[in-house]
Amino acid sequence: MNRIYFDNAATTPLDPLVLESMMPFLTEKFGNPSSIYSYGRETRMAIENARKTVAKILNAHPSEIFFTSGGTESTNTAINASVRDLGCKKIITSPLEHHATLHCVEHLVKTGEAEVSYVKVLPNGHIDMNDLDRLLADSKEKVLVTLMHANNEIGNITDIEQVGNLCKKYNAIFHSDTVQTVGHYAFDMRKLPMHFITGSGHKFHGPKGVGILYINENIKINPFINGGNQERNMRAGTENIYGIVGFAKALEIATSNQENDSEYIRGLKNYMKQKLLENIPGVYFNGDYEGKSLYTVLSAAFPETDKSEMLLFNLDINNICASGGSACTSGASVGSHVISAISKDSNQSTVRFSFSKYNTKEEIDVVVEKLKEMI
Ligand code: PLP
Repeated sequence: MNRIYFDNAATTPLDPLVLESMMPFLTEKFGNPSSIYSYGRETRMAIENARKTVAKILNAHPSEIFFTSGGTESTNTAINASVRDLGCKKIITSPLEHHATLHCVEHLVKTGEAEVSYVKVLPNGHIDMNDLDRLLADSKEKVLVTLMHANNEIGNITDIEQVGNLCKKYNAIFHSDTVQTVGHYAFDMRKLPMHFITGSGHKFHGPKGVGILYINENIKINPFINGGNQERNMRAGTENIYGIVGFAKALEIATSNQENDSEYIRGLKNYMKQKLLENIPGVYFNGDYEGKSLYTVLSAAFPETDKSEMLLFNLDINNICASGGSACTSGASVGSHVISAISKDSNQSTVRFSFSKYNTKEEIDVVVEKLKEMI
C-alpha cells in the first residue's frame, strides 16, 4: 500500500521545480558569496535576488528581510531582541503558541529578563481580544505581544491587523509567528501594523532549514549571530545559498498558484470533514474549523475507545502519516498543550490531518475506511 501523507502542517514535500532551482547551487555555483571574484559574485547575486523576490511578495523592503535557519530561529530572534534591545520587560502571549515561542518566553522569565502574561483563550480557540486590550492597558512597562497568525495544531487564524492596531494604541512591539501562513496567504507588510513576522521554507514545498525574519525598518536590533558581515552584519555565517534560493522559488510558486491551490486544498479539508461525520459516530472537530481557520488543517477529535487510544500508531502501521500535536512523540495522542488548553473533553483522541496540493480525495476515502476499522 502506498504511503498517504496527511501531515503537511509539520512539513511538506519539496516541489520538483524548487529542487531544480537549487541544483546549480549544490553543484557548479558553489562560490562563497563574500568572495570578490566571479564565483562569489554569482552566489551573492542569487541571494540578493531571492531577498528581492521575497520582499516583493510580502510587499516589504528587501532590507527588512533576513534569511535564517527557519521559524524557530526567527521567532527566538524577534522575542529575544524585543526584550534585550527594544526594552520590552513584559511579554503578552497565549498558551496556544508553538514551543518556539513558549519555550523562548519561559527562558526569559526564568532568567528574570521579562515577565509574562497569557491572554485568555475562548472555547473556540481564538484569543480573547478584550482580554488582550485589558492586559495591554494594565501594563506599566513596554510590552512585546507575540501571538501566532495561525495555530499549527487546530488551524485557527488570528486577526493580526486587529492585534497590530491594539499594539499600536499601546505602543507595544508586535511579533507574529506566521510560519503556517507565509506561502499560503497574502501579506502586505506596508499596511500591516507589525514589527516582526517569520516564515519557514518547508511549510510550503521549499527546503528545510531555511526561513525568514521580517524586521520592520523602524526597528533597530543588535546582530543576532556575531561573526562575519553576512546578512548586513546581523546574522553571521556563510549563507545557505541553495536553501535561500529554494525558499524564494517555493514562495514564488506558492504565491502564483495561491488561488487555485487554496481552493483545491479547502475542498479536501471539507471533504474529509464530511466523510468523517458520515462514517465515524461521535467525531467532532477542534477550533473554529468552519470559520477563521487554515484551509490546510483539520483537527479531528475521536471518541475514546479501546482501539482509538493507539490511533496514530495504527494509522502509521497502515502507512498513513498524520499527527497528534507538536508535543506528541509516541503512538498515543497525548501531550498537546494546545488541545488541553481548549478541550472540553479530556477523553478525546485527537488527530491533526493537514493537506497539500499533492493530496487527493481518493486518499481521504482510503483513510476514512481505515479509520472506521480503528475506532
Ligand atoms: N511555528 C509554527 C507555528 C510551526 O508550525 C513551526 C513548525 O513546526 C515552527 C514555528 C518552527 O519552524 P521551523 O521548523 O522552521 O523551525
